[in-house]
Amino acid sequence: MRRGRGRLSCLRPSQPSRPLTLLFAALLLLIAGYVVFDRRRHARLKAACVAAFEQAYAATSPLPAFEMSYSYGEPVFKVEFASKEAMQAAAGANGAFLQAIDILCRDRGRKRQFKAQRAVFFRHPADDEPVVTHCCDTMRSQVGRTIVYQDDMKRYGLKTSIVGTPALAIAHCPWCGSRLPPPA
Ligand SMILES: [Zn+2]
Repeated sequence: MRRGRGRLSCLRPSQPSRPLTLLFAALLLLIAGYVVFDRRRHARLKAACVAAFEQAYAATSPLPAFEMSYSYGEPVFKVEFASKEAMQAAAGANGAFLQAIDILCRDRGRKRQFKAQRAVFFRHPADDEPVVTHCCDTMRSQVGRTIVYQDDMKRYGLKTSIVGTPALAIAHCPWCGSRLPPPA
């Protein structure tokens, strides 16, 4: 008993920093692991969503354009048709796609339950501009590129290059300085 304790106290001087180093290493490992996990999760989800899209629109011709991205950390989808008529003709496929996305993304809501109705945007060229008039030409040309615009909330954000990271909310137009609607 006494010998054992003696040995322990001999070792002690070199020990204080070790648990901390170990903790730090474990934390780094955890973060790295999470990044890999998140990327894989995104890749898997994307593959599943593309498959759902192809299945839902298998009989639709011409095939609408499909785009998946993230807005405020939640997946968003754009399905763009050649015309309004093509979009209306594909109503059945649109419904099937919404259902599939609802199931695939049901655990992807951040502050509220994920709803495909809110996350999938069916569009056609004619409804691109007149619906919203943004502050300036540059803003108009950047919405959907560097700027994320949430139609339902009139909220603007800067797109980041990191998958899964929400857009950065902005209060003023970066180009003309116009005041933008405050985030709700
Ligand atoms: Zn502007």
